[in-house]
Amino acid sequence: MGAVIIDGVAIAKAVRAEWKERADRLKTQGILPGLAVIIVGDNPASKLYIRNKIKACREVGLHSEIHEFPRDTSQEMVLKRISELNVNPDIHGILVQLPLPPHIDSAKVQETISSEKDVDGFHLYNLGALVAGGTVFPPCTPYGVQCLLEHMDIPIEGQNAVVVGRSNIVGKPMALMLLQKGATVSVCTSKTRNLAQYTLLADILVVAVGKPRLITGAMVKEGATVIDVGINRLPDGKLVGDVDFEEAKRRAAYITPVPGGVGPMTITMLVANTVQAAERVAEKA
Ligand code: NDP
Repeated sequence: MGAVIIDGVAIAKAVRAEWKERADRLKTQGILPGLAVIIVGDNPASKLYIRNKIKACREVGLHSEIHEFPRDTSQEMVLKRISELNVNPDIHGILVQLPLPPHIDSAKVQETISSEKDVDGFHLYNLGALVAGGTVFPPCTPYGVQCLLEHMDIPIEGQNAVVVGRSNIVGKPMALMLLQKGATVSVCTSKTRNLAQYTLLADILVVAVGKPRLITGAMVKEGATVIDVGINRLPDGKLVGDVDFEEAKRRAAYITPVPGGVGPMTITMLVANTVQAAERVAEKA
């Protein structure tokens, strides 16, 4: 029997509708959640991501604004703008689109964003909160994966979860979130010997590497839930994940497609974090 295909587009739509209701409630209290996006340079992929983020915010009725800087802008200028946005009461979330040009220190930029407006969840305070078992803003992609699992009623507690990839924005926070929910978690990296030995144990397999067909069908446990975070463009222009979808879906119980799986959820959780940031401001008031 084939796997259930997890429809990230439909789930993202349903989740956005829930967050729209919460944003509407805030508006009745006179608070319009606002997101500021900073982009330095004219990387076409970054521009496309930003357009999609702004579109999602507008659909949910949030205020959003783009702060564009030319590629040769100094780090000081970017930090200055972040400091201004940190104290702007109309802005509840600040996002700096990565990658930044090499003369700008991304870590320094992330640390300058107020942890209360860090809707990407990359600030050390927010990552630390994740380690301590609480979260202020969970990073959007792993938060989106968690939301997909919850939406599909896929149990996490007591399950064997394997995360392939250990980046600060996907793999590591994903592993911590699954651990927090009571899974037994293994994290695999480029240094892992015999990757299949681990993936075959996974009740929940999350793959975030960026290598097409890294995970073949034979590496998937029968009845597993397979979450493919990877996005790869093949020479023929086709977009694929890290998992051989056709093979894996014959063994998995649940599987996300690429495109249409995790991607729409990442943007949705950015909206969620922005609304949550505004809700915290409303609570304080
Ligand atoms: P990074 O390049 O930062 O990290 C990739 C990770 O994969 C590293 O930890 C690396 O290990 C590991 N890795 C590399 N080769 C292997 C291997 N053969 N076996 C096991 N692990 C391996 O990538 P990101 O985490 O930023 O992104 C991963 C993928 O997810 C990309 O395709 C990206 O485009 C996609 N992505 C998708 C999003 C979405 O919304 N759907 C959002 C963000 C990312 P090591 O540390 O040892 O080098």
